[in-house]
Amino acid sequence: MKKAFSIVAMALIFTVLFLGCEKKDEGAGAAKRTFVTIGTGGVTGVYYPTGGAISKMVNQKFDSYGIKATVESTAGSVFNVNAILAGDLEFGIVQSDRQYQAFKGMADWKDVGAQDKLRAVFSIHPESVTMLAADDSGIQNFEDIKGKIINIGAPGSGQRGNAIDIMEVYGIDWEKDIKAEGLKPAEAAKMLQDGRIDAYFYTVGHPNGSFKEATSGSRKAHFVAITETDSLLKLFPFYAASFIPVKEYPNASNDGDVQTFGVKATLCTSSDVPDDVVYAITKEVFENLDDFKKLHPAFAVLTAESMLDGLSAPIHDGAMKYFKEAGLK
Ligand code: GLU
Repeated sequence: MKKAFSIVAMALIFTVLFLGCEKKDEGAGAAKRTFVTIGTGGVTGVYYPTGGAISKMVNQKFDSYGIKATVESTAGSVFNVNAILAGDLEFGIVQSDRQYQAFKGMADWKDVGAQDKLRAVFSIHPESVTMLAADDSGIQNFEDIKGKIINIGAPGSGQRGNAIDIMEVYGIDWEKDIKAEGLKPAEAAKMLQDGRIDAYFYTVGHPNGSFKEATSGSRKAHFVAITETDSLLKLFPFYAASFIPVKEYPNASNDGDVQTFGVKATLCTSSDVPDDVVYAITKEVFENLDDFKKLHPAFAVLTAESMLDGLSAPIHDGAMKYFKEAGLK
């Protein structure tokens, strides 16, 4: 019995040792393999296909870099910053305004303080703070949102803070003056069509699937102009004037482009992510910019120079190495 036990024990020890070695070998053999995840946004937004475009560029060169990038759909900017800093994501797409606030320890990061490990990689497409209202909601001007059911965005999204900022400028208290909902953008389009919300905010590049869906149903809808941009920029200088290209949504009830304000989508990472990984991603996107731009219509305006704008956290050393080599810095 004793003998049988020790044979079993020996077998177990060997199995453990063997498995341990196997694991180590796999680790050593896979030293050149790096798996990275890019946090994006809702599947009907532009971050999700943007993450797909970036991962496509880098995965094409798997044989040279050994990097396998995958994309995760998330709640958006604020979630992405926090997940990058917690080490749950290596990269994330983040609105330029949230990048600024996180690095300085403002707004959502007021209590936790400055996020010094946050690093900028490059900026991507412009995003407009967009409000779409149902025609039958009684919302014509922005001020008309008082008393209405408005989706300001789920916690963790970028638009939630933008909605609150602009309401402050208009003297609207989001906790008292409107019935605020916190839905994901993919749900918001359907809820508007179902008559369960009057309007929704979404800070997003154009064109995008959410507004295509929300303007194509039987309940007619229109974009609402946000005109108090001068006062907004005085209070929050990290925003810029912008507009919604209505031609992208032929079923919207607007006649022409709609005034609003906006930010830029930016790729962020942490100082803990190795330089060679960030270098490879930066290089592949910049060296294949013409191919990259074909992957989404919101990228049409991109130039290598413009992709260094809107970065307020320090540029990651790996990205900086590429920018110096390319003469961009
Ligand atoms: N700007 C949005 C956010 O940060 C996401 C937009 C998108 O997914 O394209 O939450």
